[in-house]
Amino acid sequence: CGIVAANASVDSIDFLISGLKQLEYRGYDSAGLAVLGEREPQRFRALGRVAELEALTQAQKAQGALGIAHTRWATHGVPAERNAHPHVSGKLALVHNGIIENYAQLKTQLQALGYVFTSDTDTETVAHLIQHQLKSSSDLLMAVQVALTQVKGAYALAIIHQDFPDQLIVAREGSPLMLGIADNGIYAASDASALISVTRRLVYLENGDIVRIQQNKLEIYDAQGKTVERPETLSQLSA
Ligand code: GLU
Repeated sequence: CGIVAANASVDSIDFLISGLKQLEYRGYDSAGLAVLGEREPQRFRALGRVAELEALTQAQKAQGALGIAHTRWATHGVPAERNAHPHVSGKLALVHNGIIENYAQLKTQLQALGYVFTSDTDTETVAHLIQHQLKSSSDLLMAVQVALTQVKGAYALAIIHQDFPDQLIVAREGSPLMLGIADNGIYAASDASALISVTRRLVYLENGDIVRIQQNKLEIYDAQGKTVERPETLSQLSA
């Protein structure tokens, strides 16, 4: 399972697909990606190989500079297209690696508030939870910060929202996630192997970090919401 994401000045579909292929060795049952659309994120999902997803994105001429992608290793909900990531809530799309331990309780609360679930995953609760926070916050990063205080478990997350078309939000707690800094944008992935085609400049995130990525701007906050710097390292991997 793995995550790849991009906020670039160029189309990212090729990067997202090739990044997912680099992560195939980690094991997965389905794959998916989302990019911004005209009114809401455009989502592509396929059971089976990344090559199936690639064929789908080619057939539908997917394109976008801001995107999130995922290979899923099912923990909650059978391997099926409806359970493949990204999961959406309104104009928000999100991918997740890990397990949300209190998802059952969150799901009951969110259903009582009127949120309709379309998958059997633990992940979908986080999408609705952030979407719900956006009702009382006009800032995507802040909504993610507040939502994640209610989430117990392990996660690497990448989030996009149609109303915040310049922002990619990523967060990690207990699952690996790192950033790749390139001249044409900022990228994120579970593993350096997925980033090396675009950059060697890596920033490893710490547990609790929540990051707002704009094309030429990076803000990293720790679990307490304090701005932090994480050191940049130069990867020794060869492309
Ligand atoms: N728990 C999530 C699911 O079952 C994410 C699994 C993963 O890490 O790929 O959909």
